[in-house]
Amino acid sequence: MQQDLAPLAHAAMEHAGRKASTGSASRRFVGTFRRWIDTDAVAGDNEVDDNRIDWLRAAPFVAMHLACIAVFWVGVSPIALAMAAALYAVRMFALTAFYHRYFSHRTFRASRPVQFVFALLGASSVQRGPLWWAAHHRNHHRHTETPLDPHSPTIHGFLWSHAGWFLTRSGFRTDFKRIPDLVKYPELRWLDRYDTLVPVLLAAGLYALGVLLQHVAPQLGISGGQMLVWGFFVSTTVLFHATVTINSLAHRFGTRRFDTDDDSRNNVWLALLTFGEGWHNNHHFFPGTVRQGFRWWEIDLTWYGLRMLAALGLVSGLKPIPGWVVAKARG
Ligand SMILES: [Zn+2]
Ligand SMILES: [Zn+2]
Repeated sequence: MQQDLAPLAHAAMEHAGRKASTGSASRRFVGTFRRWIDTDAVAGDNEVDDNRIDWLRAAPFVAMHLACIAVFWVGVSPIALAMAAALYAVRMFALTAFYHRYFSHRTFRASRPVQFVFALLGASSVQRGPLWWAAHHRNHHRHTETPLDPHSPTIHGFLWSHAGWFLTRSGFRTDFKRIPDLVKYPELRWLDRYDTLVPVLLAAGLYALGVLLQHVAPQLGISGGQMLVWGFFVSTTVLFHATVTINSLAHRFGTRRFDTDDDSRNNVWLALLTFGEGWHNNHHFFPGTVRQGFRWWEIDLTWYGLRMLAALGLVSGLKPIPGWVVAKARG
């Protein structure tokens, strides 16, 4: 009797196991979907230490790249290209001046509204909120080229340092103990928590603008789809890869003026592409100044932009390069 029942019991257990695994797969999907919208959605998620790529959670990032292929359907126009370029420039400035030099390194002062406006522009870049960005970047400086560095090409390999490290569950987490000076602002915490909201609003706004222009000025040859694909998807994808060259290429290719304890390099091409961030060996040697070009000929567009904002009274207290660093840079 018992023998007759054994296969049945086994089948029932298998069925229950399948049901449980289907249940956990659907729970995982629902959990991921909630995290796409609200990074605090799953309690205890911040404690998970997992360094494998979470492909489900990374799906919107992959989709952003695939969406660029739509340029072959929507076509192109001067307005679409101008919008893509303008959004690249404005958001690159927000990332380098504010996400990097202000939030991560505190190299100048800004009022709370100015801080918020540039945090908002940075958040539209699909590089998550200012708290997440600054916490990872501070860990990069603290642990450069060690296993605790989130994106070292020397330790983790080139591709991982460029576009792998932030797609893991550990990478998605914000290390709050690194940013006590920033968590006190509820508006910044809000931007970090709902980090997909601002990019989605920008994409929707661009589409609506394209539709409007198509109706009021059809001679421009623009459409909603064209504005969305060029202004959002292409611009954001290029902006993303330009930004992360500083984690990958700027630790591999270029010259080393200062003998720092890492592989950081100075690279003029990366400096042009990223508005000054390519003087990365300078920056690792002395991150406490608002400038990254240490000589007059080291083009640093972010520094020029910040000087303009300072002249307008929007920012202040730009930390200069100390005399001894200037002397050392001159050799
Ligand atoms: Zn670095
Ligand atoms: Zn830095």
